[in-house]
Amino acid sequence: MGGMIRLHNTLSGKVEDFVSLEPGKVKLYTCGPTVYNFPHIGNWRAYVFEDLLKRFLLFRGFQVTHVMNITDVDDKTIRGASDKGVSLDEYTRPFIEAFGRDRDTLDILPADHYPRATAHIPEMVRLVKTLLEKGVAYRKDGSIYFAIDKFPAYGRLSKINLEDLRPGSRGDADEYEKESVHDFALWKAPKAGEPFWETEIGPGRPGWHIECSAMSSKYLGQTFDIHCGGIDNIFPHHENEIAQSEAANGVKFVNYWLHCHHLVVDGQKMAKSRGNVYTLADILAKGYDPRDVRTLLISVHYRKMLNFTFDALDQARTARQRIGNFLGELRDVTEKPGETAAVEPFIHAARAGFTAGLDDDLNTAEALAAVFTLIKNVNPLLARGEVSKEGAGKVIAFFAEIDKVLAIKPAPPTAASGKIGEYGSPQGTAELGADPEKRLEAEVQARIESRQKARAEKDFARADAIREELLAMGIVLEDTKDGVRWKKVGLPRA
Ligand code: AMP
Ligand code: ZN
Repeated sequence: MGGMIRLHNTLSGKVEDFVSLEPGKVKLYTCGPTVYNFPHIGNWRAYVFEDLLKRFLLFRGFQVTHVMNITDVDDKTIRGASDKGVSLDEYTRPFIEAFGRDRDTLDILPADHYPRATAHIPEMVRLVKTLLEKGVAYRKDGSIYFAIDKFPAYGRLSKINLEDLRPGSRGDADEYEKESVHDFALWKAPKAGEPFWETEIGPGRPGWHIECSAMSSKYLGQTFDIHCGGIDNIFPHHENEIAQSEAANGVKFVNYWLHCHHLVVDGQKMAKSRGNVYTLADILAKGYDPRDVRTLLISVHYRKMLNFTFDALDQARTARQRIGNFLGELRDVTEKPGETAAVEPFIHAARAGFTAGLDDDLNTAEALAAVFTLIKNVNPLLARGEVSKEGAGKVIAFFAEIDKVLAIKPAPPTAASGKIGEYGSPQGTAELGADPEKRLEAEVQARIESRQKARAEKDFARADAIREELLAMGIVLEDTKDGVRWKKVGLPRA
């Protein structure tokens, strides 16, 4: 099937053919949550991008071993626990639970391992010890630092300029700007009121970067295929991971580095002070389906900034409704004599377009366009009753196949209210009064009539659009031999 998967590698700055270390197998590490806070939709952009990558690799026949760390000890978690006066474990637990819950809600495939930093202190200590023995790390005031001038490849990932580097400048913070590149802490001396571990390299606690180096090699080996994160991870986190791992192991750490751009809200960086930090729960509370969120997150190419707006989310919802609507019509197809199964060439083209799009550095816009072209081509055939039951089944099966990658397909609607109105039944438009029930009926009637008119005029796009409008109102149409019937349903949900 198709050509090669091509992925943009931050290390080379180029889109490259993807060749795995072991044929048919991919070892994938994605930086997980720092559990000092509830995850926000920016985090979910990163995790959904990684999930799309993983699902596509599976779709293309790879076996994927996926590891995602849980950062449950670092500057932020320690500060949070100390502010609240609780243990690290107590402080981080609700955030770890929320992460798992939201992840399932967004239909993100679970990783094979979720190593927690606090459960891997011995592995980190061993790695720091190796770096000390190799002379690339040094002790200072009870802490241990990585000497970046001992690692000539430092800066290659983030393309930083080391010319102005002051040799021996040091910092303890886990996060810092490119402008202040310096020797970073591998192991931090105990501080009053902070948790620490008694170890053979002395008492203290790990820096943030060492955990990913230690845990990735434990579960994936010293060299693995793909490492992902958001662009904010490139420096210093991933730069430091490379330095630690390669200096200690003497082999290449990671072959492909993939980073997604940030999500912003209404064109602005998310910030508590702006009140524009959304969690998944905040969005679902407004009545959206988690798959609307997922659809929006994957619809923008991962290397472009994603501007989150509720308008964009509404558009994602409409796109999903269009798919649900289409699938509903396919399910309603009944066996009739004389019909032709003319859908196969369209399925073929859609599968080719979908795969080619995603092969091209996960170009989801192109992949989705191929899917909507299929809908556009099959709709008129459906309207003319030319799709056989077998053909309809094949289209449905195709959607099931691609939804293994997208995970956005609406579930078949379930009748909620059970109220069935009938087209042509005497519903006088005279009493367009205050009764919302009657008003809805009149409105639905009017739209059904416009749709019939559009169909009679072979304006299938218009007919489709009307059906979508109705679906957005929670109204599902059924074309029966006795005319159009409609029912009120709950909007498609999990
Ligand atoms: P953190 O919990 O801050 O360590 O972040 C977890 C993941 O979310 C990392 O891969 C970050 O790069 C990513 N991330 C954080 N903020 C955003 C954002 N606004 N847009 C996209 N990804 C983000
Ligand atoms: Zn990491």
